Amino acid sequence: MDCIFCKIVEGSIPSSKVYENDSVVAFHDIQPAAPVHILIIPKKHIATMNDVAPEDHGLIGDIFAAARHIAQELGIAEDGYRLVNNVNSHGGQVVYHLHVHLLGGKKLGPLPA
Ligand code: 5GP
Ligand code: ZN
Repeated sequence: MDCIFCKIVEGSIPSSKVYENDSVVAFHDIQPAAPVHILIIPKKHIATMNDVAPEDHGLIGDIFAAARHIAQELGIAEDGYRLVNNVNSHGGQVVYHLHVHLLGGKKLGPLPA
């Protein structure tokens, strides 16, 4: 499968990993949009949030638990941060392997419309 994030999971493409467990991997975004910009992905290939099946619901919880853990580790939990999931064309999704952006490290602006 020609998926860049699956290759990051396999390790055949390098990434700057900050967290990993049995189900998820988190790594720095290659083009950070904020002082902290981390991508959290399931190891399982799921293209978009639209493709999440009931048996994957635990994985979604794992992604959010990882986000909470990473924010604590980086010391940004109290000041706050933002979790973003882009879906398909109108959502601005570019990489079709489910991922949640963890953004923080400064006071973020309002969400774009
Ligand atoms: P999307 O628009 O699909 O929600 O976001 C995809 C994100 O993946 C973008 O922020 C982009 O900078 C990041 N990205 C794309 N290719 C790579 C890569 O090869 N390595 C890393 N670390 N991030 C990537
Ligand atoms: Zn994939």
